[in-house]
Amino acid sequence: MICMVALSARAQDANGWNYDDAINADLDNVLPALDSLGLKATFYLIGSSPVVANRMEEWRQAARNGHELGNHSLYHPCDGSLPGRSFVQADDDLSKYTVNRAIREIRMNNVLLNAIDGKTKRTFAYPCGDLTIGGSLFYPALRKDFVAARGVRSAMDSIGKVNLDNIDCYAMNGQTADQMIALVKEAMKTHTLLVFLFHGVGGGHNINVGLREHSLLLHFLKDHESEIWIAPMVEVAEYIRTYQGQH
Ligand SMILES: [Zn+2]
Repeated sequence: MICMVALSARAQDANGWNYDDAINADLDNVLPALDSLGLKATFYLIGSSPVVANRMEEWRQAARNGHELGNHSLYHPCDGSLPGRSFVQADDDLSKYTVNRAIREIRMNNVLLNAIDGKTKRTFAYPCGDLTIGGSLFYPALRKDFVAARGVRSAMDSIGKVNLDNIDCYAMNGQTADQMIALVKEAMKTHTLLVFLFHGVGGGHNINVGLREHSLLLHFLKDHESEIWIAPMVEVAEYIRTYQGQH
């Protein structure tokens, strides 16, 4: 998951990148593309992903290079009681969790990420965008553990309107570079925060964007760096938090 965030020179617009789920394509395809242009993003890691265990030193190096390792929970539990959720395994069914279990697992993922990158400030991304367990929100108890949380609703918000408990983003799946660049142009015109959410880039996930399309988007952003603030989610969220007067 890439979260790319950009803010204008006047600090009114922002663009965010998020790359979700800790997959090999993040390290093999996305990081080299970002690093070749000096762009920084957020990778939302599932602590139990074998790609965390098997390639830990590469994630550590990514964090050292200025990318954010965000928290995407320990086991990626999703609400299996919702329509279209037949993929949810019994052990990972959020509807069978207690709120306290979700909180404890998410906190343990922060401990794991801290052991990898040494950092104490990061953002959270809701697995499957699910906000509640049995009708209760679970994030409010975690507010002190994170700078902000990212959801999955598609919208561009002005800095005063961003909800730091559920930041909006645009999930990419099969878009062309032109379609993605059109979103960036819209954010530039409206002085809003645009967060891109990627899964596979050049393969690795059934939700995917082509490598060349992704590369063309990165080059467009690089070419407009003086007009757009492109940064990991945590940096953008901290800026917004200060602007909104929340401490
Ligand atoms: Zn996910």
